[in-house]
Amino acid sequence: MTSPSASEQLRQSLALYSTLSRTTTHFTPAQGDTVRMYVCGPTVYSAPHIGNMRTYLFADIARRVLCFAGYSVQAAMNITDVGHLTSDADSGDDKMAKAAAAERATAWEVAEKYTEIFFSDADRLNILPMDLVLRATQHIPQQIELIQRLEEKGVVYRTDDGMYFDTSFVPDYGKLTPNDTREHLRAGQRVAMGEKRHATDFALWKFSPPDAPKREMEWPSPWGVGFPGWHIECSAMAMDYLGETLDLHLGGIDHIPIHHTNEIAQSETATGVPFSRWWMHGAFLTLEGERRMGKSEGNKITLDTLIDEGFDPLEFRYLVLLSHYRSPLSFSRTALEQAANALRRLRHRVAAWKKSVGAGELPDCPDNPYLTRFVDALAEDLNMPRAVAELWQLARDPDVDDATKLSLILAFDEVLGLDLESASKESTEIPDAVVRLAQERWELRSAKRFEESDKLRDQILAAGYTVQDGPGGYELVPVND
Ligand code: AMP
Ligand code: ZN
Repeated sequence: MTSPSASEQLRQSLALYSTLSRTTTHFTPAQGDTVRMYVCGPTVYSAPHIGNMRTYLFADIARRVLCFAGYSVQAAMNITDVGHLTSDADSGDDKMAKAAAAERATAWEVAEKYTEIFFSDADRLNILPMDLVLRATQHIPQQIELIQRLEEKGVVYRTDDGMYFDTSFVPDYGKLTPNDTREHLRAGQRVAMGEKRHATDFALWKFSPPDAPKREMEWPSPWGVGFPGWHIECSAMAMDYLGETLDLHLGGIDHIPIHHTNEIAQSETATGVPFSRWWMHGAFLTLEGERRMGKSEGNKITLDTLIDEGFDPLEFRYLVLLSHYRSPLSFSRTALEQAANALRRLRHRVAAWKKSVGAGELPDCPDNPYLTRFVDALAEDLNMPRAVAELWQLARDPDVDDATKLSLILAFDEVLGLDLESASKESTEIPDAVVRLAQERWELRSAKRFEESDKLRDQILAAGYTVQDGPGGYELVPVND
């Protein structure tokens, strides 16, 4: 458990950046000790990629930091299981229907299958389960009700394909995007206008096309049979469960110009109060430097791919911790291997401390300077790279005893989520790949092919082991660093 003084220190100092205010300010919940937090969830028409999972890891870290500060966090996430359209435009195919046709399944089956895959990935990454998982298809009445409230305000109009929100009624429409970029406008301009009054207007309810085959997912509404637009689901469900003003709303940066901009427009028009006090956005995971990993970019890597390659999901979690959430994370196998080696070394250390401490009680270390510095890092807009660096400083400090190290690092792990407590037991086993390398090296060495055997020695070292040769063979010893 976090010590009360560390929690208090974190509460006093926790500063979070909000995309809306464009500043980093001291975070406090609106009501007492409860933080109401909403995370925009996945669209479940295909398996998530590790870019998506980076965003959910960021949300998990934010949540764990708030818990570390002693807040009670109510965390909600939507599941977009009603086919939202293929782009942020209000036209195009329904993603769910498209996937259903490709997989010869119903749209409902597709949604169920990918929802399960998403939660299984989240679980393997040690992402804490959400308190509330809100499926869009199970909240159609709430969405209809919100559209009706908007109608009463006179901001909804009908076109031949749906009911639209008139953004010209919102004086501060687009406030989430800086004036000089206004990407939502540019994005809006790419959209075929049809009968829309303004490029940025968006669908609240779409009619089932009269001349197409009957849709699998459609509902009656006061305006005609059809299905809700994408943005309305988050506003309706978040407000229904968490209240009209949230403390924290999170998602990836691609949600800023359209999805979150429109959530703000419709929620605040309906209620007249701010929709969320903090808006936090995670940067992308990219490949080959700049290229964003995307479901439709053709460069998707899933967690299963990494597992098949022999990685442990928590090694990916460790890698994610090494970049600040507002900086892009340039993914590569090399970076992941380095993260894996570092995590393995950490697990070895934890195992060794456990052995030396035995079954005795761990000391309470409320005022330890390493704890203070770790909390400082969290308070600095979730500066996890610094938090991990503080952890390693502590791990390597010869003046700190093992029991203190163990006690502090297990407390840090409440936020890091690397499962150091249980992973340490089995992780002392040397990985197969390293054993194979060592065997190969021994054979090369015996054949006096020293140049090649030295290269393998370096690879083994990079994986966190030194080879100690003796007359009858070799021994692999974990590097203590
Ligand atoms: P989607 O299922 O497409 O709605 O995306 C789910 C979440 O993943 C959203 O919060 C996106 O902002 C986020 N996301 C999509 N691509 C990436 C990426 N390459 N890196 C990080 N987050 C991403
Ligand atoms: Zn959303």
